[in-house]
Amino acid sequence: MPWCDSCDEYRAPSALTVDGQCATCDSEVDVADLAVPAPTKAPWHFKLMVAALVLYLGWRLIEGFAWIAARF
Ligand SMILES: [Zn+2]
Repeated sequence: MPWCDSCDEYRAPSALTVDGQCATCDSEVDVADLAVPAPTKAPWHFKLMVAALVLYLGWRLIEGFAWIAARF
């Protein structure tokens, strides 16, 4: 959220003028925070966990089919 130093308040991006200035006091607003933060890369242990989960659920699915097949 952009911060207005003069008003000492946060301003919604829609509350700014087209020039990126505060609509209330018409002064410069710090729009550095307007930039979308770079997406953080998923850590390796998260990918490992997802891979393990896929393997586990895949195995349980095969087990499930084997269980169903054993009933007929
Ligand atoms: Zn202002």
